[in-house]
Amino acid sequence: MQHEFYRDTWVEVNLDAITHNVKAMKHHIGENVEIIAVVKANGYGHGAYQVAKTALDAGASILAVAFLDEAIALRNSGIHAPILVLGATRAENVDLAIKYNITLTVFSLEWLYEAKQYIQKDTINLHIKLDTGMGRLGVRNAEDLASLMTFVSGSSLFAITGIYTHFATADEIDLQYFNNQYEKFLELIDSISHENILVHCGNSATGLRFPGKLFNAVRLGISMYGLSPSLEIKNELPYSLQEAFALQTKLVHVKKVPKGTKVSYGATYEAREDEWIGTLPIGYADGWLRSLKSSEVLVDDKRVELVGRICMDQCMVKLPYKLPVGTKVTLIGKQNNEQISVDEVAERLDTINYEVTCMITSRVPRMFYRNKSIIDVSNPLLTNMTREC
Ligand SMILES: *Cc1c(COP(=O)(O)O)cnc(C)c1O
Repeated sequence: MQHEFYRDTWVEVNLDAITHNVKAMKHHIGENVEIIAVVKANGYGHGAYQVAKTALDAGASILAVAFLDEAIALRNSGIHAPILVLGATRAENVDLAIKYNITLTVFSLEWLYEAKQYIQKDTINLHIKLDTGMGRLGVRNAEDLASLMTFVSGSSLFAITGIYTHFATADEIDLQYFNNQYEKFLELIDSISHENILVHCGNSATGLRFPGKLFNAVRLGISMYGLSPSLEIKNELPYSLQEAFALQTKLVHVKKVPKGTKVSYGATYEAREDEWIGTLPIGYADGWLRSLKSSEVLVDDKRVELVGRICMDQCMVKLPYKLPVGTKVTLIGKQNNEQISVDEVAERLDTINYEVTCMITSRVPRMFYRNKSIIDVSNPLLTNMTREC
């Protein structure tokens, strides 16, 4: 793993926060419910490998990702724990899943017919996905489930090791739709025998709010990263979450400009007086989107305003006074008593916290902290370069 980067913009991932969040959930749901740590999308932008390792050490026993590629990447980085792919996998790639000992999700009989042709002798482990109201992936009724079960029970190529569903509204105050989905799930799983397999329906919101409704596993995503599944339930969380994600940069240029000076593309910002303007080496190609213009960042423990349009690789900030080049600037995270939370950035963008950490691109290196010291750095840019030469 590469331990260097040459630009002063980075994500800090506090692995102790991840440990806290996993342990708190484990304590909340009890020893008999397993934690499936959801590390899709590079661990919601935090770094899948380090988050996976941390979650497993903290009490998670299974990992989940969205796509087979993500699962293979984890295997290639040395993760041996069970991995479940939540999304659809091409039937023709079932042999790869077997080779890497990865569990796939099945949701149609046609997929099984097709997959069968690509399996030589070994067995593929499968979790059945039921669609109880999410309308995304899943078997939708008892008849289809029965024919799927009949097909697999007659074949040694398929082993059903789990069955699950996903809620559309577990993070909302109104529980009617959630309860309907839960009832439908009960009905469907009761129509088949499900002893000795994993049965799971809960995401973070369900785990936090309804620890008694989880069957024997919970799929823990957003709250493992220390973020609330929604603003609606943020005030009724059963334990405190610790945010793991911070986005940092540094002033790379500082100048005093006279009143009337224009800043950035379109010359849309004009200095209202003689002003100190700082330049930050982060832009929309890093996921710091153009619509974040005029938003606040932290410098010298204070909130200050971004000015002018955000460029692809840089943006400008209005400083309260002269500050030296190299001064740390926090775009997400804390400086002393000030904090810009992921939720605050989500609100500015009119989106959800999930999207904010995912949108910070792989151009930004991730630095992993334990006990306030750096234990690892991941920088796909330089890692790939090294491999190619
Ligand atoms: C992403 C995902 C999760 C995790 O949900 P959170 O709200 O982040 O806890 C759980 N289950 C499925 C099927 C998912 O796709």
